[in-house]
Amino acid sequence: MHLSAFLHDRCVLKKIVEKCHSTLEMNEKLVQSTGNGLQSSIPKLNVAVIGAGLVGSLAALNFARKGYEVDLYEYRQDIRTAELVQGRSINLALSQRGRKALAEVGLEDEVLSTAIPMRGRMLHDVKGNTSIVLYDPCTKQCLYSVGRKHLNEVLLNAGEKFPNIHHHFEHKLSSVNFNEGSMRFKRPFQEDAEAKADLIVGCDGAFSAVRQQMIKKYGFNFSQEYIEHGYLELCIPAKNNEFQMPANYLHIWPRDTFMMIALPNQDKSFTVTLSMPFKVFADIKTPKDLLEFFIKYYIDALPLLGEEKLIKDFFKSKPQYLLSIKCNPYHFESKAVLLGDAAHAMVPYYGQGMNAGMEDCSLLFSIISQTEITLDKALLQFTESRWRDAHAICDLAMYNYVEMRDLTKRVTFKCRKFLDTTLFRFFPTIWVPLYNSVSFTSMPYNKCIANRKWQDKILRNIFYTILSGALVTATALYVTNL
Ligand SMILES: Cc1cc2nc3c(=O)[nH]c(=O)nc-3n(C[C@H](O)[C@H](O)[C@H](O)COP(=O)(O)OP(=O)(O)OC[C@H]3O[C@@H](n4cnc5c(N)ncnc54)[C@H](O)[C@@H]3O)c2cc1C
Repeated sequence: MHLSAFLHDRCVLKKIVEKCHSTLEMNEKLVQSTGNGLQSSIPKLNVAVIGAGLVGSLAALNFARKGYEVDLYEYRQDIRTAELVQGRSINLALSQRGRKALAEVGLEDEVLSTAIPMRGRMLHDVKGNTSIVLYDPCTKQCLYSVGRKHLNEVLLNAGEKFPNIHHHFEHKLSSVNFNEGSMRFKRPFQEDAEAKADLIVGCDGAFSAVRQQMIKKYGFNFSQEYIEHGYLELCIPAKNNEFQMPANYLHIWPRDTFMMIALPNQDKSFTVTLSMPFKVFADIKTPKDLLEFFIKYYIDALPLLGEEKLIKDFFKSKPQYLLSIKCNPYHFESKAVLLGDAAHAMVPYYGQGMNAGMEDCSLLFSIISQTEITLDKALLQFTESRWRDAHAICDLAMYNYVEMRDLTKRVTFKCRKFLDTTLFRFFPTIWVPLYNSVSFTSMPYNKCIANRKWQDKILRNIFYTILSGALVTATALYVTNL
């Protein structure tokens, strides 16, 4: 046989063997994925996941592990090969809920191996002094800074190993008919594509085309709120291949009505997010205005950002807007379901948008794994057990903006933090502070709020008891001295 033909045959053979191995591995994983060894009673349908962002690529993995045929459609190019990736925030804070969802598909360790732990907030005051508030001095839990692109790549690469996931990039969903399960996609420089699926999963973000179709259905409730603040991303580059600030913190410059934060990146730079009312952005018209603004409010950050780079980065892009979206239900019969930002976009100040979206996957797949459940019942159960919590985290995210930009530097906030930490140390299962319950547990978000309410009540009662005790004692002393 000719040598090149022989080598070619060997290559083909090797590929077939690899594919067989991969299929065998997948089958093994599929058996494991049912957890209790029991198979869900939902038949193995064709699923179309719309959006291959963080939540869509995770959802696709989960469906594939359960043996469904999955088509994953993404509007953009493949993020792994695209030269310029446009999109929101470069890095994100990963916490317990996201970690748990990643662990369920066997990816937590891989993601954490390159993530940067952030143990607390490092607060920068207007003079440039810093102070540290640890997230969890008792059990030492922390947030992890992860690159959005890297995380998305890890998820897509994991999906690539499943023969039952089919990726379709540059496919923008333009219309959908749930009853027929039919979809139409726009493609650059090509004719529209058409496809069919038994279940359509909308993971297509805050401006979801799938949700747009659901809105027309009777009983679908929806609200959205733009906030008057926008954000703009800047960068503190590495210097001599080192971080210019301590790496293991989420840095915050709280300035009452606005703030700046910075999260560390793998390449030893920091991604800096400046959040302010749009009218404050609009007042900065020239490089001189910008430098004066930074000298006034962010004096210590200025040399780290570099004046020239700051001017270039600031004026090259426009501040992005932020919105909060609530809706209910998240499903339409047994035909469609929304996950992630498509179901509940939130302002980014609790660092929970992605974590909550990934937790949607955990919840949905734990329901789908139940034996004796039909798909329509599973989707109904998903909506019913999720919407209150999703609405709660949207509200908490709004609240946390005020906490980060204003409350963190107040004495009352520091006292409360001290009390919470002390009580948590002594009663770790009973007194879980709000931030810890949201970021470091899987306690339903709604319960996190209820928890905080009874804690507030107890502290208020203790405060008033001490105050009245002090008043009674003072009065008694006064009377006896008369
Ligand atoms: C500044 C900022 C900072 C943030 N920081 C954090 C953080 O620290 N921690 C955290 O947990 N969350 C954070 N978030 C929130 C987080 O980014 C989102 O919650 C998360 O990206 C949601 O993922 P998703 O997959 O649901 O949506 P997206 O990430 O929006 O992905 C949707 C995907 O669908 C595709 N798509 C859209 N329309 C179509 C269509 N018609 N057809 C096909 N495909 C389509 C898009 O191209 C995209 O790839 C932050 C958000 C912002 C803006």
